[in-house]
Amino acid sequence: MRQSQLFTKTSKQTPKDEVSTNAQLLIKAGFIHKELAGAYSYLPLGLRVLNKINNIIREEMNIIGGQEIFLTSLQNPELWKRTDRWSDEIVDNWFKTRLKNDTELGLAFTHEEPLANLMKNHINSYKDLPCYPYQIQTKFRNELRSKSGIMRCREFLMKDLYSFSRTQEEHDNFYESTKPAYLKIFERCGLGDKTFITFASGGVFSKYSHEFQTLTESGEDIIYLDREKKIAVNKEVYTDEILASLELNKDNLEEVKAVEVGNIFTLGTKYSEPLGLNYNDKDSKQQTVIMGSYGIGPGRVMGTIAEVHNDENGLIWPEEVAPFDIHLVSLCKEESDVKKADELYTKLTSEGKDVLYDDRNTSAGAKFADSDLIGIPVRYVISPKTLEQGSVEVKKRDQEESELVKL
Ligand code: ATP
Ligand code: MG
Repeated sequence: MRQSQLFTKTSKQTPKDEVSTNAQLLIKAGFIHKELAGAYSYLPLGLRVLNKINNIIREEMNIIGGQEIFLTSLQNPELWKRTDRWSDEIVDNWFKTRLKNDTELGLAFTHEEPLANLMKNHINSYKDLPCYPYQIQTKFRNELRSKSGIMRCREFLMKDLYSFSRTQEEHDNFYESTKPAYLKIFERCGLGDKTFITFASGGVFSKYSHEFQTLTESGEDIIYLDREKKIAVNKEVYTDEILASLELNKDNLEEVKAVEVGNIFTLGTKYSEPLGLNYNDKDSKQQTVIMGSYGIGPGRVMGTIAEVHNDENGLIWPEEVAPFDIHLVSLCKEESDVKKADELYTKLTSEGKDVLYDDRNTSAGAKFADSDLIGIPVRYVISPKTLEQGSVEVKKRDQEESELVKL
């Protein structure tokens, strides 16, 4: 993409109404736009990052057997009444709306109910199980506070996978397989060395759920981390009894702030039972399907990356999620030099590289400042000076040194 064609502009001003680093940087660099508190639009650069995160998640979910679907946001209250989750006293973050004829509808904050109900059309026999549908879809939650930029929104994307299994053992096996898949996702997103499996409260059907918590001062959670064992316990379940059952020693635990980038949950028959999601086993006996749910917030992941990977000059994207592979900055003015810069752009693009080509007619200083702010991992500078040596200057965003590389 030629930067002269990119309609978004960078800004030097830090937005006054944003307290979080991720929102400040992403707005200044032109990745997102704040529509209202807790609602952000994604602009070309931001959408590129979000789509890269989504595709990493897709790849890893497909490997463990996920099948992608896309459910509606509009919700029929009848299903939610059956599981006792329609009432505002029980679920405090519903957005609700009405049809012209006054019928009440909900905007989905999660999708257990509609999916369990839908699966009744497809699950009859033990032969139809197990299965693992997932989606990357919009959720609405009337969050009390939304001050963490794109890490806590009232409208946000969620990857939610749901497992439908015949037995507890079958469920447990799949549940375990999601842990390395999740860790792989966060590693590919550049959060590998800061993300830890964390024990959290489990509900009726299991002792724990597991959260994937990324260490950052901007996180809203407090966890107790055993760095050597690479596991943590959320403050909400931090008791002597739980520590003993996990064989964790208080002396080895660090109290740290973290953000929950994903979580996995055993649901048992909590939703399948009231919604009547059953199957016939080998002996033609009716059994209730066992469910699990597995969430990741791609927007929250993007916000977390921005929090973790930045410096005083701007963002520093990890390779796999960067909006572009290379930022080609041209300081060429003479027609013959510009031609060489154009040729390099074409060559890199034809090699399959995603290149943002700064072909604008602005000062070198402004170009470098924008390049640092936007944070593409590798910068190529082509100028009359580098061309004198038949070269281009190559610099990584997270390093000081650069090197001259022959064209
Ligand atoms: P939290 O404890 O942070 O409120 P949660 O436990 O309610 O989140 P889930 O309902 O399990 O979260 O959602 C799955 C994933 O969706 C979370 O792990 C997180 O990555 C993401 N997520 C949840 N709430 C939000 C939000 N308000 N904005 C952005 N992402 C979110
Ligand atoms: Mg949580």
